[in-house]
Amino acid sequence: MSVGWDADPDVESWPGLPPLPGDTAADACVVGLGGSGLAAVQDLVERGLSVVAVDAGRVAAGAAGRNGGFLLGGPALFLHDAIAQWGPDAAVGLYRETQRELDRLESMLGPDVVRRVGSIRLAGLPGRPRTAGEAEDRAREIEDCAVHARALRAYGFAVVDYDGPLGTGIFLPDDAAMNPARRALALARRLADRAALYEHTPVARIESGRVVTGRGVVHARVVIVAVDGQLEIVLPQLAGRVRTARLQMLATHPVARTRLPCPVYGRWGYDYAQQASDGRLFVGGGRDRFLDTEWTTDVQPTPEVQRHVEGVAERMAGGPVSVVQRWAASVGFTADGRPLCVEVDDGVVAIGGYNGTGNLVGPVAARTAVAHVLDGTPPPLYFAS
Ligand SMILES: Cc1cc2nc3c(=O)[nH]c(=O)nc-3n(C[C@H](O)[C@H](O)[C@H](O)COP(=O)(O)OP(=O)(O)OC[C@H]3O[C@@H](n4cnc5c(N)ncnc54)[C@H](O)[C@@H]3O)c2cc1C
Repeated sequence: MSVGWDADPDVESWPGLPPLPGDTAADACVVGLGGSGLAAVQDLVERGLSVVAVDAGRVAAGAAGRNGGFLLGGPALFLHDAIAQWGPDAAVGLYRETQRELDRLESMLGPDVVRRVGSIRLAGLPGRPRTAGEAEDRAREIEDCAVHARALRAYGFAVVDYDGPLGTGIFLPDDAAMNPARRALALARRLADRAALYEHTPVARIESGRVVTGRGVVHARVVIVAVDGQLEIVLPQLAGRVRTARLQMLATHPVARTRLPCPVYGRWGYDYAQQASDGRLFVGGGRDRFLDTEWTTDVQPTPEVQRHVEGVAERMAGGPVSVVQRWAASVGFTADGRPLCVEVDDGVVAIGGYNGTGNLVGPVAARTAVAHVLDGTPPPLYFAS
């Protein structure tokens, strides 16, 4: 399975990291080198702790290097839905934290990695509705976009109405786009001489003070487990609190370069695409249409979902596309949409369950976990703890 984001000079030139050479000790151990684990490593080293961090595969071999590359303010739920479910303090609080995280990422990695182009929430998909059902759904979604925009404005978040070549919806100018693999590898490059980072080191067991891997044991008084999809496999005690789903994507040959000015998500956010500067489209979606098959820890793409995503790609492109790569990865879902930041054992904190939107929420969770375990700060209300 080849991943479209890996066709990038910065990713191709990643030299790799060695596996853990044997038993070792540090102040802290981080399990998982995706965007969230790397944020935890950074926070820990900035507080002066020695850190060992391990991943079963390459840096960002999981969803962190295989996702849509959207950097959106807020959680997976739209702001008005999050307010309805969790109350305004929790929903707006998490929205503000993700925006701060985006500012931090942009100032650290620069505009080559973080493209501050905004995002469009579209009602439906580009082009005329193909069926009466699609037309009705789009009309409902146009109303929902208006409610969404009112909630954003009420709390001071930037939003403008969008009515343009792609359709009708709202434009959120503060959002951004990235190649997610580049983001993670850029962070790992910055951290490699400040922390001991190891790839190809699967963790078999995690206990208070000990992380047991196939390559040796890491002794550490602080352990942060930063695994989104498949968290309930790494920590079986979280089964029932987080559930793994597969999300699928594809990349196309370049299409007309100016087709998508920024990340676009339509049909209630279930279908999404962004266009790279070379014209390639990166497209995903359809999870709502394939619920039965996508609750799985398997990460192979399937013909049924890929057919749906290809249809989305054609709508986003405004014509036929030629698919170059297809892939999938695991993410964690929770019952009420709140991500997890849970102390599962003395000094062991697990983060994950971002419900499909973890590029910024994950690092927020990582900083929350570090503050909890080192300072005793309780996780805010927007986390399930
Ligand atoms: C197709 C797709 C599209 C998405 N689009 C977006 C998007 O546009 N915007 C957004 O915000 N979010 C998106 N997401 C969700 C987002 O990718 C994830 O929430 C986020 O990347 C999670 O990052 P993480 O670092 O927490 O975890 P992960 O990326 O899951 O990283 C965990 C790491 O832990 C490692 N690991 C797992 N088990 C073990 C073990 N036993 N031992 C050692 N290491 C282990 C894995 O190899 C992996 O590298 C998408 C996800 C997918 C799959």
